[in-house]
Amino acid sequence: MKNLRIENLHASIGDREILRGLTLDLPAGQVHAIMGPNGSGKSTLAKVIAGHPDYTVTAGDVLLNGESILEMEPDERARKGVFLAFQYPSEIPGVTIANFLRAALQARLPEGEELEATDYYAKLYEKMDLLQMPRNFTSRSVNEGFSGGEKKRCEILQMAMLQPSFALLDETDSGLDIDALKVVSHGVNSLRGPDIGMLVITHYQRLLNYIVPDFVHVMVNGRIVESGTKDLALKLEAEGYDWANEQEAEPVVA
Ligand code: ADP
Ligand code: MG
Repeated sequence: MKNLRIENLHASIGDREILRGLTLDLPAGQVHAIMGPNGSGKSTLAKVIAGHPDYTVTAGDVLLNGESILEMEPDERARKGVFLAFQYPSEIPGVTIANFLRAALQARLPEGEELEATDYYAKLYEKMDLLQMPRNFTSRSVNEGFSGGEKKRCEILQMAMLQPSFALLDETDSGLDIDALKVVSHGVNSLRGPDIGMLVITHYQRLLNYIVPDFVHVMVNGRIVESGTKDLALKLEAEGYDWANEQEAEPVVA
């Protein structure tokens, strides 16, 4: 079975350890949510999986369908089906959305095979309609001058076009008003299915009313401290993260 497995992952930036023994199994066909206070390492986890060069993995592994991806470059991980929607998407002045996505899709084709323009635009427009993005966005530079909500839509548009097998969505809800949240959630939900596993990272329970996860994990200080069903998210909403912090503070007896 297809899965993304994170095993006892330790990762640092400089000499500071941020992920401190994190284990998580994400099978295709499921949606898992990671919730946690700011600074707990959620974005670090997403970036380490995607292959961001700032982070050093000091122990543990990330396995895609049983194969370690830690030695792979980010683009190789992406071609193998890993996708990251950034919490803070970068602006790429001078590169239009249409050209950017076309290049990204072309890069996945075997040597010598050309993306068919008509098919490409048909798919692009279909996905833009799904996300209620006006057509003139295709000729705008990626994320340049976009509002927070437009950037998040653009991230999900990339996911819709690339059809990854594992998608990491880092705070896709941040900066969205309720209408935009509904549109983006609808887009994400329409991409759910047996061939994709999703890891939805969020600080707030609100998103999980729209993207209902199969499992919820609470991350504190670089580790998962509790896992459960979506009811766990409601507990966090009601009680905040203090209980989880206390749990983390207790010495762990191995
Ligand atoms: P979260 O997404 O849960 O809010 P992050 O993964 O962004 O948490 O950050 C976890 C910790 O790692 C924070 O204390 C943050 O300051 C630190 N950190 C993350 N990225 C960097 C970086 N590039 N340089 C220095 N510290 C960083
Ligand atoms: Mg973050």
